[in-house]
Amino acid sequence: MSKNEFDIIEKYFTFPVNRNDVVLAGGDDCAMVTVAEGELLLVTTDTLVSGIHFPEKTSPQDIAYKSVMVNLSDLAAMGARPAWLTLAITMPDIDEQWLASFSGELSSVLSQFNIALIGGDTTKGPLSITIQAMGLCDSDKTLRRDTARPGDKIFVTGSLGAAAVGLLVVQNGIEDKVLQPCVDDLNRPRARVEFGQALTEYSSCAIDVSDGLIADLGHILKASDRGAIIKLSEIPLSSATAYYYKHYNDQLIDWDMVLTRGDDYELCFTASADRVPEIYKLAEKHKLEVSCIGEISESNELVCLDGDGNTVDISATGFRHF
Ligand code: ADP
Ligand code: MG
Repeated sequence: MSKNEFDIIEKYFTFPVNRNDVVLAGGDDCAMVTVAEGELLLVTTDTLVSGIHFPEKTSPQDIAYKSVMVNLSDLAAMGARPAWLTLAITMPDIDEQWLASFSGELSSVLSQFNIALIGGDTTKGPLSITIQAMGLCDSDKTLRRDTARPGDKIFVTGSLGAAAVGLLVVQNGIEDKVLQPCVDDLNRPRARVEFGQALTEYSSCAIDVSDGLIADLGHILKASDRGAIIKLSEIPLSSATAYYYKHYNDQLIDWDMVLTRGDDYELCFTASADRVPEIYKLAEKHKLEVSCIGEISESNELVCLDGDGNTVDISATGFRHF
């Protein structure tokens, strides 16, 4: 007998709930959850459309993983503890093998972060995944875009530009094992969830880098009404990313590509100069690379300097849909 949408929801999108703040998960018109006194509820949503946010050939496991991570990255950027999630999935047909793989990975990522799937929507159409993630934080410990001050140091976690290389590798069918980590970074970005929460002790200003550093740092600068000076020589590149530019781009780093293509899902944050040693200690504790890439300035301009102190014009402006 052919399955209808309710059979699919029951079989693939009903997971055991291990959180006592969930009063009612899927199965009714709404989910019901409780938020403790003194806590804030943080809500974010992101859609991943096949062929736009991931190449059409991407595995169902990687699609599940990435659609959760891009949302967790937003929660991380505000210092939130992930709690609940809803999933709206649109798919062209019922492909049980695909659904089993997608559901298995979804369940595994959610249990890693102790997140409950509390509802969603299931519809027919071109493949598209919309996740809404909800998180909690203490009301006096948040990270926002509008709190950068002149003299603050600017940091990024991890490295930038790997997913951009990964996308070229996939699109151009480049066969080179050394570049595989870039493809992994494209398909399986790791949101900096624990670090974001810990960061609230030392910083109040962060954003996640999803559209490229220039665009996303630009959001901090606009919201905080400030500018910044960035040193390109301090921008962290993974060894596979550096290898790509060395061997496939005449040893020239394409800064437009590193800083504007996006899909990095690292955190960019600021901290006052006296907190720098604590930031590095925190990074060490979380086994995470953190790099100081520049400083917030009084002006309203974002200036990028090369190793000789010359201004470099980054022409592209970040990933835009329209
Ligand atoms: P309604 O018509 O009342 O909006 P639906 O028929 O869309 O409800 O969904 C029935 C129940 O199944 C709801 O509780 C909804 O939250 C849940 N649900 C639907 N799709 C999903 C999904 N993809 N993942 C998790 N829960 C889902
Ligand atoms: Mg519905």
